[in-house]
Amino acid sequence: MTTNEMRALVKAKPEVGLWMEHRPVPEIGPDDVLIRIHKTGICGTDIHIWNWDDWAQRTVPVPLVTGHEFAGEIVDMGRNVEDLKIGQRVSGEGHLIGKHSRQSRAGKFHLDPETRGIGVNEQGAFAEYLRLPAFNVVPLPDAIDDEIGAILDPLGNAVHTALSFDLVGEDLLITGAGPIGIMAGAVARHVGARHVVITDLNPDRLALARKVVKDVVVVDPKETDLAAIVSDLGMKQGFDVGLEMSGSQAALDQMVEALVMGGRIALLGIPPGKSPVDWSRIVFKAITIKGVYGREIFETWYKMIAMLENGLDVRPVITHRFKAADFRDGFETMRGGSSGKVVLDWR
Ligand SMILES: [Zn+2]
Repeated sequence: MTTNEMRALVKAKPEVGLWMEHRPVPEIGPDDVLIRIHKTGICGTDIHIWNWDDWAQRTVPVPLVTGHEFAGEIVDMGRNVEDLKIGQRVSGEGHLIGKHSRQSRAGKFHLDPETRGIGVNEQGAFAEYLRLPAFNVVPLPDAIDDEIGAILDPLGNAVHTALSFDLVGEDLLITGAGPIGIMAGAVARHVGARHVVITDLNPDRLALARKVVKDVVVVDPKETDLAAIVSDLGMKQGFDVGLEMSGSQAALDQMVEALVMGGRIALLGIPPGKSPVDWSRIVFKAITIKGVYGREIFETWYKMIAMLENGLDVRPVITHRFKAADFRDGFETMRGGSSGKVVLDWR
C-alpha cells in the first residue's frame, strides 16, 4: 500500500455485504478539508446498504465508500478555507446541500431538495480519510471525545425530533427504543419534560433505555396498556407530545389514542410502505403532526453541543466498540437488533 492509498469500507458489488478495500485518498478542492477519521458510528442506513434492500438498490451508486457518522481531525485544507486549522478535532454534517433552491437561499439548509448524503450518494466516512466541504465541518470542543463525536449525527436526529415541540413540564411518549428514540428520551429529560415513557417490543432495548434515560418508564405494549400507564403516573388526559421512532403502524395508533386533545406528534420512524392511518381520530383530537428529516443545519448542532457541554450524557447508548478491521462483527451486532450504537475505531 502506497501513502496515497487508504483503507475504506466499500459497497463494491451490487449484492449483500460491504468490503474493506484500498482506495485512493480523496483529493480536496479549494473549499474542502481532508479529515483523518478516528471513529465512526454504524447507522440503520448502513444496515440497509449492507442488506442491499430495495431502497439501497434505488439510491446507492456502486462502488461507494459508505458511512456518514464520524469524528476525526483535519489533516489538509483547501486554499479558501478559513477559521479551521490542521490538527483540529471535528465532526460534520453529512448532508451536502445545494445553493439554488428557495429553501437553501432562505437559510433552511435541512430542507434543501438538492441535498446529497455522504456514504449514501457521495463518497463516505467509513475510511481512513474523508473529504468534506469546510462549510459542513463542525469543530469538537474538548468536552466531546471521538466516540461521542462519532454519534453526533444520530444524536442530532434525536435532538431535532425532541426539540420539535416545547417539552418543558410536558408528558412525553416515545414509541421505539432504538438508539435515536433512547437519546431523544435523554434530551427530553435534560430539557425538563415531566414524564418520559418509552415503548418497544424488545426487552434488551427497554433495558438500555433504562440505563440511558434517568427516571424513564419503559413499556412493552404487548404486556401493558398505555392507558394504565397514564393513570399510574397521575396524568389527567394523556401525553402532551409523542415522538414516533419505530415506523410501526401499531405504535402510531397507540400514540394517537394515548395523546391529549391538541397533542403534538413528531414522526422520525419510517413505515415500510403505505399504512392505514385512522385520520378521523387525528382530526377529531386536533393533533399536529410534523415529519422530521435529518437535523437543522446548523442550529441542531449548536444546541446538541451546548447540551453535551452542560451535562447531557448519552455515552451508555454506545454498547459495542470494534476495530474497523472487525467491521463484520459490528454489522452482525447491529443486524441482531438488540444493540445500541456500535462504534468502529479507524486508527
Ligand atoms: Zn446515521
